[in-house]
Amino acid sequence: MSTSNNALFLEQAVQLLGERAVKTALSDLEPYCVDWRKRFFGKAAAILYPRTTEQVAGVVCLANQHGVALVPQGGNTGLSGGATPDASGTQVILSLSRLQAVRHQDPANKTLTVEAGVTLKQVQELADGMQLLFPLSLGAEGSATIGGNLATNAGGTGVLRYGNARDLCLGVEVVSASGEIWNGLRGLRKDNTGYDLRDLFIGSEGTLGLITAAVLKLFPKPAGVMTALIQVASPRHAFELLQLAQAKCDAALTGFEYMSAESTQVVIDHFPEVARHGAQIIGGILGGNNSMVAERSDSVLMEISHPESESAATSMLETVIGQALDQQIVGDAIVAQSIAQSSALWHLREAITLAAAEDGAQVKLDIALPLSRLVTFIDQVNREMLAAFPGVRLHNFGHFGDGNLHYNIGAPQHLAAGKSVQERRAIYLDYIQTHEEAIRRLVHDRVMAMNGSISAEHGLGQLRKAEAWRLKSPVELALMKRIKQALDPNGILNPGKVL
Ligand SMILES: Cc1cc2nc3c(=O)[nH]c(=O)nc-3n(C[C@H](O)[C@H](O)[C@H](O)COP(=O)(O)OP(=O)(O)OC[C@H]3O[C@@H](n4cnc5c(N)ncnc54)[C@H](O)[C@@H]3O)c2cc1C
Repeated sequence: MSTSNNALFLEQAVQLLGERAVKTALSDLEPYCVDWRKRFFGKAAAILYPRTTEQVAGVVCLANQHGVALVPQGGNTGLSGGATPDASGTQVILSLSRLQAVRHQDPANKTLTVEAGVTLKQVQELADGMQLLFPLSLGAEGSATIGGNLATNAGGTGVLRYGNARDLCLGVEVVSASGEIWNGLRGLRKDNTGYDLRDLFIGSEGTLGLITAAVLKLFPKPAGVMTALIQVASPRHAFELLQLAQAKCDAALTGFEYMSAESTQVVIDHFPEVARHGAQIIGGILGGNNSMVAERSDSVLMEISHPESESAATSMLETVIGQALDQQIVGDAIVAQSIAQSSALWHLREAITLAAAEDGAQVKLDIALPLSRLVTFIDQVNREMLAAFPGVRLHNFGHFGDGNLHYNIGAPQHLAAGKSVQERRAIYLDYIQTHEEAIRRLVHDRVMAMNGSISAEHGLGQLRKAEAWRLKSPVELALMKRIKQALDPNGILNPGKVL
């Protein structure tokens, strides 16, 4: 885009949206030109804040007229750099965060229709107000928007029972790359009338269309949701526990998260207050001496949702754990006795991502495998990783019940022994930059050999684009390119991402 096109585009955008919805000052742009992990830094010509679908469509028409590339952005919590502009300074960030209307609440259909900028937390609260449940849940839910959740097909902690964002959406409204508005907000559970356009836009990371509103699927609220923290000797034991829990609890098993000893260690290192709070609550349950937070061991966070009561959920957890203890699958275990105790346990799990960010640079991988191969994968790749990169820390954790691991690798701790925080961060960054490609390849090659995926829930964005190109079949890539070409022939939507 030339500077004169740029200037004309911005002038007309101001006429369309009003001056306050078009920001060009560096200080206004900077926070939105970097991703949550501070890994991708871009530059933008402007950030635009439309408030309605019609305004979004108007901006897209202008972008086509002037050849301006748009980078859609919601809460900017994505973990693959998909919402960060490139370094040219010519792209324009299109924030969907001010599309905030709640369009329709339909308790009889168990649906909620909201605009793209409503945050996930707000959606959960709205559903709660309808005495229903919206089960999508993830660490960034206070800032992540429903539009971003759908654009990345977000997963989170409830997928085991309720599915990912795609499964929780019954319809979308989309502004196409040519500026037309498609209203697909029908809230149907069945609709076989040709190609499923909704599914095309969900997970397309802002490259095929702009999601402006969605119909979300709600569920009956379970009467009791309870959690246990369970010590396991190895990923194999975690897998055996999963098999047992699924056999005993079926759909009542709503969460099964694995945390390697090193991933909880990073919380203890950087957020001792979170670990201490967890320990106090857990200590209260155990009567004082809590070995599980103090000792380094792998663990599982297991959640049961029961339609009848909290005590029924607790009792179901206790039954499974009792059997697992008898079969020597698990070590120590703590069953939460209240919602507050459950939340403290979840807080430990959710703090891993934040503590890892505090620790410094890591190679972040988001892989999925068939459940039947997960344990072999972890055993084999952990071994190979430590042999090839001695001393690295394996911060593995994640949605084990979905076959999804955040297989993250931290630099060897001894490299920064006795250094200041700044020095440590620089040392870790240097190590990760030096070895990232080799580490990534090692893991991804094994993932592909075992029929897995190199992105379970975070998407390709900029981070995994090259690896997807390396590993996807030429046929799959060619089909994807043809879809992009058909829907966005001028290449104005999020260029440089995914493809
Ligand atoms: C602490 C933490 C924990 C997390 N845990 C999880 C987890 O458990 N599971 C998980 O799946 N993710 C997780 N994430 C990642 C992140 O929260 C999700 O990817 C979220 O869905 C992104 O929403 P957002 O509104 O922030 O989107 P953004 O980051 O703003 O954008 C993400 C992508 O979607 C596109 N986009 C945004 N809005 C729209 C729209 N309306 N229309 C079209 N395209 C759009 C952007 O261009 C970009 O490609 C976590 C992130 C953090 C920081």
